[in-house]
Amino acid sequence: LLQKKAKSVLLPEIAVEYYQIEQFPEYLHLKQQQQELADLGLGNPFFTPQEGIANDQARIQGQDYINFATYNYLGMCGDPIVSQAAKEAIDRYGTSACASRLLSGEKVIHQELERAIADFIGVEDSIVFVGGHATNVTTVGHLFGQHDLILHDALSHNSLLQGALLSGATAIAFPHNDCQALGRILQERRSRYQRVLIIVEGVYSTDGDIANLPEFIEVKKRHKAFLMVDEAHSIGVLGKHGRGMVEHFGINPHDVDLWMGTLSKSFASCGGYIAGSQALIEYLKYTAPGFVFSVGISPPNAASVIAAINLLKTEPQRVEQLHQRAKLFLNLAKDQGLNTGLSQDSPVIPIIVGDSWASVQLSQNLFHRGINVPFMFYPSVPKNAARLRFFITCNHTEEQIRYTVDTLAEEVAKLPQNQ
Ligand code: PMP
Repeated sequence: LLQKKAKSVLLPEIAVEYYQIEQFPEYLHLKQQQQELADLGLGNPFFTPQEGIANDQARIQGQDYINFATYNYLGMCGDPIVSQAAKEAIDRYGTSACASRLLSGEKVIHQELERAIADFIGVEDSIVFVGGHATNVTTVGHLFGQHDLILHDALSHNSLLQGALLSGATAIAFPHNDCQALGRILQERRSRYQRVLIIVEGVYSTDGDIANLPEFIEVKKRHKAFLMVDEAHSIGVLGKHGRGMVEHFGINPHDVDLWMGTLSKSFASCGGYIAGSQALIEYLKYTAPGFVFSVGISPPNAASVIAAINLLKTEPQRVEQLHQRAKLFLNLAKDQGLNTGLSQDSPVIPIIVGDSWASVQLSQNLFHRGINVPFMFYPSVPKNAARLRFFITCNHTEEQIRYTVDTLAEEVAKLPQNQ
């Protein structure tokens, strides 16, 4: 690396460095990290292909593993009714919308989907985008601008941060789930900006705790701000019937301006939605770049969501079972003295080990014992807070959970740092 840097003072070499990806410092950094993993004997833990449906089990290299690596919370992905709905949508509409919806890609099923989402949450209307990440980037990036202020939780998802960046607004992180701190920032700064957006998540995706929504609603009203809730991990998950934060807290859905959610988790599909007032949705449908200049969601993807929502209404026991299983995992892990961080009342359960390499090692050791669970380290989570992240599904059995937590406790105790 040093030799290459030294050579780059010669002009022709500089040109080479900047039009060859292989010479980008960032690419060389990636290669160095991969080498470090290999040197530690940890191989390449990324992009391991699965051979079938990822549910409570996943098939990898011809073997079945107990699977905690995917967010198929309600077991809808792979459910025969959901798959059948997707197949029928292909027969009727084909595999793609083949155009942006605004001019020529609109299908009847798109309108059915957006009605179903809006009704499920209890608001006037909704709009569906082709990606969950894209939903946040384009919505936040489009609705706010340089005279505005975006206050987001310190643990906000990358897509929200990218949207804030794109908007050109002043973006400030407030301490995680700390409404008082948010109130203080607003007290001091509100008057300097036109629009203010507060962003929180339903269930936080790395820590598994829940935003205290009633308090955020109170602050938003007091300071005349917009409130956006990312329900990627709470829709279908929280509340007795899976209706998310509205049901969990018993709040009025109209008290939140932008309900955002992904279709890739509880709804077994791909895409994202914004749900809210008729005016908000109409404005986004005619002007949001990630909608106007992008193809409509594919018919089978739309059909899977409609089928999953209908199934959830007829089988609410899936949600109850999910809650029970998640509670069992969390309680057993706590009994074993494992560090579950902030996780509470949700199927996202981190096991925090601190050191990055220890998290990779632990993930691999569990894999050798039949358990598939990914590690997360900086920059996905703060430095020295590396972890394994367990996603529980309603299909996990008690036996799978008990075996996993027992094995986990044994393997955590064996980590060099705990010897
Ligand atoms: N928001 C949150 C909180 C997420 O965790 C994710 C991804 N898991 C997204 C948005 C993006 O969703 P998708 O993966 O469906 O694009």
